[in-house]
Amino acid sequence: MPQLPDSIRNAAAAFDTLPGVGPRAALRYAYWLVTQPKEAIGRFARSVQGLAEGLTICTECGQWSDRSVCAICTNTERNTSVLCVVATSPDVQSIEDTGAFKGRYHVLGGTLDPIEGRTPDTLSIQKLLKRIQASSDRVTEVILALNTDVPGDVTALYLKQQLEPLQLKVTRLARGLPTGAALEYADSMTLADAVKNRRES
Ligand SMILES: [Zn+2]
Repeated sequence: MPQLPDSIRNAAAAFDTLPGVGPRAALRYAYWLVTQPKEAIGRFARSVQGLAEGLTICTECGQWSDRSVCAICTNTERNTSVLCVVATSPDVQSIEDTGAFKGRYHVLGGTLDPIEGRTPDTLSIQKLLKRIQASSDRVTEVILALNTDVPGDVTALYLKQQLEPLQLKVTRLARGLPTGAALEYADSMTLADAVKNRRES
């Protein structure tokens, strides 16, 4: 794209690195952004820059947070006896949006996929087990809120085996979610039903 101004080419190249965005869409975004007021472009740039600063992983649950312990983990009104295990931080938000869950979360940091090199030691699994054992508030139920695809199922099976000695109730989201569904994209009603109707794993 030699005829492109450098600033358009650089912005398009940046958008092109986003998941699910191809080069043509990336170029459209760059051209759309350039038509916006200068302040709006500045706000956009600063909001992206903000991601590189001041964010940390919650030391309790492992989700992205602007504090060392996130707002959910510090909220004393949450039910501490139920722990919802999810793959990623956006999954926490998907479940929060349903309003159907008032317990706490544990973010694994992905799902198991040996082909992709995602083995148990790359996920926050040991930390999950330690967290349950060390917790002063007794955890009685662990909900495995994982995608209904192969890595999600493999991860759920592995976790169930690991959790077995701890003798607690292990549930999975109800099968209202279509097979292959990603939590991130499930609509709130379906996901709320899946949380309410979770079944023993
Ligand atoms: Zn937390």
